[in-house]
Formats: sequence, C-alpha cells, structure tokens
Amino acid sequence: MSESHKELDLLRQKFVGQRVGPYYAWNKVSRTQVWQWCAAMGETNPNYLQKSDAVAPPTMLQSWTFRDVHGNYAPDSTDKNTYEVLGELDSLGYVGSVAVSYDQSYHRYLKEGDHVHSFSTIKDISDLKSTGLGEGCFVTEFAEYFDHDDQLCGDATITYLKYKPQQSSKTNRSETAPLKKVGRISPVENHDSKHFWQGLRDGKLLIQECSECQTKRHPPQPMCETCQSLEWQTIESNCFGTIYSYTAIHYPEIPPFDYPNVIVLVDLDEGVRIAAQLEGTQPEKIEIGDRVQAHIKEVQDGLALPIFKVTAK
Ligand code: ZN
Repeated sequence: MSESHKELDLLRQKFVGQRVGPYYAWNKVSRTQVWQWCAAMGETNPNYLQKSDAVAPPTMLQSWTFRDVHGNYAPDSTDKNTYEVLGELDSLGYVGSVAVSYDQSYHRYLKEGDHVHSFSTIKDISDLKSTGLGEGCFVTEFAEYFDHDDQLCGDATITYLKYKPQQSSKTNRSETAPLKKVGRISPVENHDSKHFWQGLRDGKLLIQECSECQTKRHPPQPMCETCQSLEWQTIESNCFGTIYSYTAIHYPEIPPFDYPNVIVLVDLDEGVRIAAQLEGTQPEKIEIGDRVQAHIKEVQDGLALPIFKVTAK
C-alpha cells in the first residue's frame, strides 16, 4: 500500500461515521429572512411571500445553520468542526477543493418560528483517484436538519473533491500548445435585439423609434415606455454624441481587452444613451461633456461594435 493510500486509510478510520452536532441556527425562521432570500434569488412564489401560512423555500435549508463571517456557530452549538477532515487533507497536500455534488431531500416545510439545528456525518472518504485537476479523493458529508422538536425537516448529501493541484498550468502551457485566443462573450441576440446587432454588422448604429409617438429608445426593447405601443421602426444614428459618464477598468486584466479599458456612457445626438468602449484617450484626459464619434468595428467574426473616439473638447 502506498504512503498516500495509508494516509487516506487513517483519515477514514478517524472520521468516517463520526456524527457531529448540534449546530444551531442563529435565528428562528422568520418572514424577514425568507423575504430577503427571495428578493436576492428573484423568487416570487406567493407560498413563500404572501400567504398567511407562508412557508420557507426548502432550498434555504442549509442557510439556517450557517456559520457567521468569523466562522462561529450560534450559541449552544458543538465546538467540533465538521470540516476538520478537509483541514487534515489540506495538511497532506490536498489543498485543492471543489464541491462536486449537492443533493437535498425535504421532509417537511419550515415555517415562521421553527428553530433549526443540524448534525453532520462524514459518510465516505474515497480511494485515491486521478482526476483532471490532480490526484485526490472524494469526501462525502451527510447533513441532517431538525426542528426544535427534533423532527427531521430535510437532509443534504454533499461531495467534495480534495486534490493535489497539478504543476502550474503556465509551465505546462509553455511546453505544449500556445494559449487559445480568448474572444469576447457574444451578446444575446433575440427577437427584440437582433436588428441592433445585425445593423452593426451592416455598419449602421440603429436606434429604435416608436411608430406611434416617435419616442426613441435604447437599449432595444419591445414596447414604448411612453405610449406602450408595440409598433416601432429604426433610424440610423450619425454616431456623434457627448460623454455623459465613463469608467476605466484597470484590474483585473481579462483577455481580450486592452487596459485600461475605458467604457463610456454617451448621449447620442439623436437623444438616447448608449454604453460602449472608448479608444485613443487615456482616462485622465477624458472629461464629461467631451464630444465623441463612434466607428463601427468588426471586433471578431460576426460581432461588430460601436467604438468611440474623442473628437473635440
Ligand atoms: Zn410611443
């Protein structure tokens, strides 16, 4: 048996089957927390938000007994650390960590006033595996969530891969293939916006204009905000405008952009505002109100964009 296999075997003997807890929730289930979670997730189900007997979204399960930002559990929780096994794997060189699966089962809905606590069991530490990330093992944790009457409300099975990262990918790359050229992320072209992107490919900056009230609008949208008409046509911008605001991104440098990457908000002469890249002027020289002109440039295959340059102060 190799040294690595022996080390994992020892960890298995020490941790597998050990059930630790309880870990208490900091607060009882409350409508405020449910509302905040739903607002953050974009959840609008009335069963969570409006009904007098509203329940908490089941997928909030794990959140009730989270540690705080300093790593502390709520009062009366055990001081045993569920993740001690992951720390030991770190010290053996398995410093890479990826959560590879997370399955939850729900036994009953949680509702306002429930006070949750959880227990955690390390179910398995796998044999040594060769993975694309490096050599490592899978650690499976099983967490159970109970209410204040010790009724099981839900459980979760979480699998982590702990691995020894392979040699720096930089070294590997220089010895093998050159870096693949990174392109821009293509914009979403749908029924409502295709005209705009196609217009740019044809060398035109197109602005939508309401057929009923002639209000111009950008970015593309199906309905006029002024008169709610769905009828529209386009006009071609002369590509001149004035800088309304700008930002310069210096860091982190992400391909394929040049840095500093200057993004401007331009009030086009036709009366709409557009966000785009500005070239040819260092950020410290830019002033709000500078006149600019857009040139339409094919930045990669099938993608053309308006790129602005300062024309006059
Ligand atoms: Zn209109």
